[in-house]
Amino acid sequence: MTLHAPYDPDNIFAKILRGDIPSVKVWEDEHVLAFMDVFPQSEGHVLVIAKQSTARNLLEIEPDVLAQVIAATQRTARAVEKALKPEGFQILQFNGEAGGQTVFHLHFHIVPRWADRPMKGHGHAPMADTAVLRSLAERIAAELEPLK
Ligand code: AMP
Repeated sequence: MTLHAPYDPDNIFAKILRGDIPSVKVWEDEHVLAFMDVFPQSEGHVLVIAKQSTARNLLEIEPDVLAQVIAATQRTARAVEKALKPEGFQILQFNGEAGGQTVFHLHFHIVPRWADRPMKGHGHAPMADTAVLRSLAERIAAELEPLK
């Protein structure tokens, strides 16, 4: 998939946003959705997406929507840090198939990191148990700061 193909309305995240397939939600508002990655590269791996934009990547995202998504990523990362106490975390964002992107609806990854726990490979992690993801999502959601 090139950087410049049209948006596919049947990509996995579009299906999640329509409710056609389930996801383990951390939180949402009218603009953004934060949900658990089902193939987590570490414990507490969360994805943040815009709800209305059909931008596939960073080149296409409208600046005002980007501001909403990155603010939501920061809010979620703060809650991840409080809930799971990682020693560090990574914010990842892939663009185009050659850039490692596999779902073509712009998203930011929050991947908590611990010095003694190797991170699983992008696209190579096993599927997580839904009950475990729900429990993590509840712990993270419980630490969210109030929306302003
Ligand atoms: P990327 O490769 O940057 O496009 O990231 C796509 C991410 O979506 C990967 O980390 C996948 O593990 C994750 N993913 C794929 N399908 C689902 C799904 N149904 N629910 C949640 N995360 C998913």
